[in-house]
Amino acid sequence: MDENPIQKRNRLKREIAQGAENLKSKKRELERLSANCRHEWGPTETAFIHHKGYTIPGDALGTMGVDHRGPFYVSPKTDKRWKRVCTKCGEIDYTTSVNKTTVETPKW
Ligand SMILES: [Zn+2]
Repeated sequence: MDENPIQKRNRLKREIAQGAENLKSKKRELERLSANCRHEWGPTETAFIHHKGYTIPGDALGTMGVDHRGPFYVSPKTDKRWKRVCTKCGEIDYTTSVNKTTVETPKW
């Protein structure tokens, strides 16, 4: 028996709701996996985020006025970030925080 559009709509809505519930429960399961693990972190690796340089084109030719904007170049940029992976549960942990240390040396 073919379902009519109304039946199909209702079925899809029901399946979406079930899918959302399923997603929530899987996320909870994943959180429990991390919470129950006494993490043993593997080596720290760099996981820098590189942003390419790009040009903002500016206003089209023929656009006049004092507020006319020409092309503008945005320089490439790298955000420092590191990652470590738990050898027991596979959780990936990222950080962008750094410890700053000051080295004191005698000054003559
Ligand atoms: Zn772990």
